[in-house]
Amino acid sequence: MPPDASSDAPLIAFETVSKVYGPVVAVDAVSRSIAAGSFVALVGASGSGKSTLLKMVNALEAPSEGRVMFEGEDVTALDPPTLRRRIGYVFQGIGLFPHMSVAENIAIGPRLGGESLTRARIAELLELVELEADLAARMPDELSGGQRQRVGVARALANDPHLLLMDEPFGALDPITRDALGERVRALHERLGLTTVMVTHDMAEALLLADRVLVMDAGCIVADETPGGLLAGKGGEIAQGLVAVPRAQAEKLAAMER
Ligand code: ADP
Ligand code: MG
Repeated sequence: MPPDASSDAPLIAFETVSKVYGPVVAVDAVSRSIAAGSFVALVGASGSGKSTLLKMVNALEAPSEGRVMFEGEDVTALDPPTLRRRIGYVFQGIGLFPHMSVAENIAIGPRLGGESLTRARIAELLELVELEADLAARMPDELSGGQRQRVGVARALANDPHLLLMDEPFGALDPITRDALGERVRALHERLGLTTVMVTHDMAEALLLADRVLVMDAGCIVADETPGGLLAGKGGEIAQGLVAVPRAQAEKLAAMER
């Protein structure tokens, strides 16, 4: 952040941002700020515009209208590689290069920026995601799904980003692995002082991990609440419909234990 920026300036600001694909309005005039240091979950049904909104932050998509500010600058005015070096990005189909080792996969971002990572730095990044240093020499197909996803997180952290964007990062994992990795990412968020925006269709995951939950529906943000607020019944009908699912499960389980 520029030294003269006030410390409470938002890290990300969506300013009446829309994205249309032909007749489809994927994102519809979203205005929202995200404070540095917050952990925000973006929740909503499939097709509600979550991924599109996220991709406009790291300029994988350009707004049709409005603008997205990152650290006080319009993202479309920044050179995309420079922008993406400041933003870690983890997505579901993690996209490790199959013909490259774990170490080479982790180092790809810095390498594209002309920097090579030391063996010690690779080990440090693996340690952050609780993987043994000797996994560095393995190929992706020699890892479990959970280990691959951890490598994806390590890769996203390789450039010391301020911002971590995650798009359904744990969607393909079994529930136990998913839970452990979610908690690990939350701990890393604290330890590294990150700002994190995580897309998920799972309200339980959002309630457990985030400080703030944005609910999207048909391209619009229809709720902006804390987990406590949502659990207390705030956020409107669509948000409460999503909260009802894990709540009903928790109640059924609690009833079985009586
Ligand atoms: P979500 O991540 O919430 O599932 P998306 O942001 O992927 O939703 O998509 C929002 C809407 O935009 C959907 O109707 C989707 O079909 C459409 N869409 C997304 N990307 C494209 C694209 N590249 N071309 C055309 N339509 C798209
Ligand atoms: Mg999506």
